[in-house]
Amino acid sequence: MSKDNSNHFIKLVPVVQDYKWGKPANTSLIAKLIEDASSYEYLAELWLGAHPKAPALIANSNLNLIQFLKEHATNFMGAKICSKFKNSLPFLFKILSVNSSLSIQAHPSIELAKKLHAKDPKNYPDENHKPELAIVLSDSLELLYGFRKLEEISNFVKKIPALNFILSEKSKKDLQSREKADSEILKNLYSEIILAEETKQKKVIKLLKEQGVGDAEAGIKKWIEELVEKYPNGDRGILSFFILKYYELSKGEALFIEPAIPHAYLRGDLTECMATSDNVIRAGLTYKFCDELVLLDMLNFDNVSQILDIRKETEENFLTYETPAKEFKVSKLSKGLSKKMNFEGLELLFCLSGTTIINKEISMNKGEAYLVSDKCSNYLVEIKEGETFHVRVPV
Ligand SMILES: [Zn+2]
Repeated sequence: MSKDNSNHFIKLVPVVQDYKWGKPANTSLIAKLIEDASSYEYLAELWLGAHPKAPALIANSNLNLIQFLKEHATNFMGAKICSKFKNSLPFLFKILSVNSSLSIQAHPSIELAKKLHAKDPKNYPDENHKPELAIVLSDSLELLYGFRKLEEISNFVKKIPALNFILSEKSKKDLQSREKADSEILKNLYSEIILAEETKQKKVIKLLKEQGVGDAEAGIKKWIEELVEKYPNGDRGILSFFILKYYELSKGEALFIEPAIPHAYLRGDLTECMATSDNVIRAGLTYKFCDELVLLDMLNFDNVSQILDIRKETEENFLTYETPAKEFKVSKLSKGLSKKMNFEGLELLFCLSGTTIINKEISMNKGEAYLVSDKCSNYLVEIKEGETFHVRVPV
């Protein structure tokens, strides 16, 4: 690698995570994006960023991105980004290939993240919040996101014996009468579900197995059948399917996950961009550390689930995802694009498929990534085939 700063394009090598919830390596999208997938059983995530857990590597060097930016932060990121984000890369870009439900979780606000990190750095490794953008790459992405309307929940309580069993008479009465504030009713009943003692959780599994889920939509039915086998001794997250909204998004759709909104990815491939952070607060569908009381305290119970269309085609073959995040702005560049790029600050290019040509010199193939220096104020991107993601930091 040249130390010469006239080298504006730095090739990155992503790092993969082989978590068991990922798709088997032979079917994972990630296998198609890395050089050699043969040594993996599962391929769950591909990371491109400077998070200490798995920093990307600089190609043809023995440095990782954290080490590289230590020396070149101002030149590469630009003074504005450096001062705003204390010389560290603000965003983390990922590809996920999900085969079995991830934990029910929510992301903390920046204030809460600081508090949790100070108190429990083992379980909350970062001081940072985690605003997150997800873009669907597979034909469908199943997920839970945000709360259902109380009418829907009430309907489930009538039809699903397991849900009826776990809730107290008081909660059911409140749900019927609707005399209290909706958020209070919701918080009380969700607390009863995720704080239920083990014997009750076991009984829930038994009831789900024996008495089923009534006329719940086919997607949910399928998941409950799968999860009662996966968690035979119960799991506090399983009844969340009747409290949180279930979605099946299509390829190309996207969502922005705000802090304090409960969610869980269930199955599908996606790309994610987030602030550099690995902080999540979990409450079920996992054997990992759960922090139910913190979650109940921080969740936004006023929110009724809604996914807004955040895609904006600012010019042909250049689609931008509009989010309030200060750490990143993501665009999808597709076949036919020929564009002079003149953004301020550091940029990341990641080729998902086909070939992308930079300045008629660098040919990027699928799985390849380049960091573009702040010093490079004008360069040409051409896409003959496929798609490339572009990440910049709004300045
Ligand atoms: Zn999340």
